[in-house]
Amino acid sequence: MPILDRFSLKNKVSMVTGGNRGIGRAIVQGLAEAGSAIVIVGRDAEKSAVAVEEIRKLGVDAIALEADMAKRDEIESATQAALKHFGQIDVLVNNAGIGFHANALTLPDEEWERLFSINLEGVWKASQIVGRHMVERKQGSIINIGSISGEIINRPQWHSPYGISKAAVHHLTRSLAAEWASSNVRVNAIAPGYVRTEIASTEYEDYRHYWKDEVPMARYGKPEEIAPIALLLASEASSFVTGSVIVVDGGYTLW
Ligand code: NDP
Repeated sequence: MPILDRFSLKNKVSMVTGGNRGIGRAIVQGLAEAGSAIVIVGRDAEKSAVAVEEIRKLGVDAIALEADMAKRDEIESATQAALKHFGQIDVLVNNAGIGFHANALTLPDEEWERLFSINLEGVWKASQIVGRHMVERKQGSIINIGSISGEIINRPQWHSPYGISKAAVHHLTRSLAAEWASSNVRVNAIAPGYVRTEIASTEYEDYRHYWKDEVPMARYGKPEEIAPIALLLASEASSFVTGSVIVVDGGYTLW
C-alpha cells in the first residue's frame, strides 16, 4: 500500500471524548480530514453541536453524544448510541480531562476524587466499554491523552493530583496494550507539553518564563500540532506501535 494511504481513515469511525474544543477538537478535525466518521462525546451539547456541523462540511458523518466521563452509565449509553448509529468504533481517543493547581497539604478529598473520576477512571471505563467491542471485532486503536506532567514534575505550580493521574494514564496505556495486543487492539498515549487551550489559559501568564521561555523551542504548542500524532496512532501507519507514550512538547522534558 502506498505510504500516504496507510494514514487513511476511510470507512473508519472515531470516538473522541472532549472533542468539542481544544486538543480534542483539533484531533477530531484531523481524523475527519483523513476520512473518519466522528463521534464527539462531551458535556457541553451546544459546543458539540457546532463542532459536528463543521465536521459534516468535510463530507464525513458526525454525531455528538452527551456524557460525563465520570459516569459509567453515561459512557455506556453513549457507546451504545454510537454503535447503533455507525455499527462499529475503530478508534477511541480518551482526551477529556481537567486540571487545577493544588497544594498537597490542603487539597480536599472531594477535589482529588473529582479529578481522578475524569482523568483516570473515565479513561479506564471508556477503554473497558469500547475495548470490549474492539476485542470482539479483533480491531481497534485506543489513544489516551496523557501529559508531560505524567513524566516529570512541572514548575513553578503544584498540581500533584493532575500529574499522578496522567502518570497512571501512561501505565494504564502500557497495561491494556499488553493485555489486548493478541486481539489486534493497539493502545498508545500522547503526552503533550504546554498547549494553548482553556486548560492552560492565559490566566497563568506569570508562569510564562517556566512554561514557554525555558522550553527549547521557546513557544507553546498548538492543538493542531497534536492532531497528526493522533492520526499516526489511529491509522495503519502505526500498525506495529502499541504501549508507546509519544511526548510532543517542543523539547520541554529535555532539560
Ligand atoms: P480543554 O479544557 O480545552 O478541553 C477539555 C475537554 O474535555 C472539553 O471538550 C470538555 O468538554 C471535556 N471534558 C472535561 N470534563 C469532562 C467530563 N467530565 N466528561 C466529558 N467531557 C469532559 O482542555 P485541553 O484541550 O487543553 O485538554 C485536552 C486533554 O489534553 C486533557 O486530557 C488534558 O489533560 C490534556 N493535556 C493538555 C495540555 C495543555 O497544555 N492544554 C497539556 C497536556 C495534556 P465539555 O466541557 O463538553 O465536557
